Amino acid sequence: MTERPDAPHRRRSQGLAAPGRVKEVTSTANPIVKDIRALAQKKHRDETGLFLAEGLKLVIDALDAGWEISSLVVAKAASDNPLLQKTASRTVALGADLIEANGKVLEAITRRDNPQSAIGVFRKRLTPLDALRIKPGEALIALDRVRDPGNLGTVLRTADAAGAAGVVLIGETVDPFSLEAVRATMGSIFAVPLARASEADFLKWRRSTPALVVGTHMKGETDYRDPDYGAKGAVLLMGNEQAGLTDTLAESCDTLVRIPQAGRADSLNLAVATGVMLFEARRGVLKL
Ligand code: SAM
Repeated sequence: MTERPDAPHRRRSQGLAAPGRVKEVTSTANPIVKDIRALAQKKHRDETGLFLAEGLKLVIDALDAGWEISSLVVAKAASDNPLLQKTASRTVALGADLIEANGKVLEAITRRDNPQSAIGVFRKRLTPLDALRIKPGEALIALDRVRDPGNLGTVLRTADAAGAAGVVLIGETVDPFSLEAVRATMGSIFAVPLARASEADFLKWRRSTPALVVGTHMKGETDYRDPDYGAKGAVLLMGNEQAGLTDTLAESCDTLVRIPQAGRADSLNLAVATGVMLFEARRGVLKL
């Protein structure tokens, strides 16, 4: 994959799009590196509409799911890896830029030691809330003001594993396209429909959905195993890590459930509670 340093040119490709450029970058001061590195900050992700996905698996997951790639940074040291080569060729054929970098540059971009051999720069994508429909047997997660990127990533991964219809982020939330959140999804961010909504828009949408809306609450009086989640499909409403659900959201629910606990813990971690709820709601559908 070696080309002349910092000399972009077009690589021949069999794809339909005009092939992307191939560049070798050796300095962390290179403007391309600075631009990609800046995507660690939300401000730059918002300005450009781009975000980073680290690791060859994530990059392949994203390409397979049809996400638009803007550029791919690959480790020069791993350039004899056949899967990396194939992914690099695929990227160039799609019209995206291929950047061959040394370990120092990869470390600077990912801000960690032992960086992955591939980092994709992808265009952000959200699903409009109105496009989310819930059929009988299905379940959708709605997260009220989720703050922790690890929790959000884990919820997306769990939603993917349970075959959830989607995840809705309500109100001011952590950015789902942050490095930490994307890392924690393990690629599921590319598989699960993800929507954002203000509380008012969510409540409007909620009035038009025939699904059962189940709020999870520390003061819920119904055991989480009691509702019939499958009959109409379910929206599982999960509260903020510190404050739980807003009163307005809690009042909008058809029922408020609680997961019984033993021991001294005040509550379950948000992602753990979401997992418990999702697999209960999908119990009639998921079979070995
Ligand atoms: N101090 C918060 C409160 O009183 O609501 C705790 C929030 S808890 C860390 C985050 C969210 O996880 C809750 O809002 C709820 O949606 C869910 N959750 C955690 N433990 C739960 C339980 N035992 N039953 C129902 N929901 C639970």
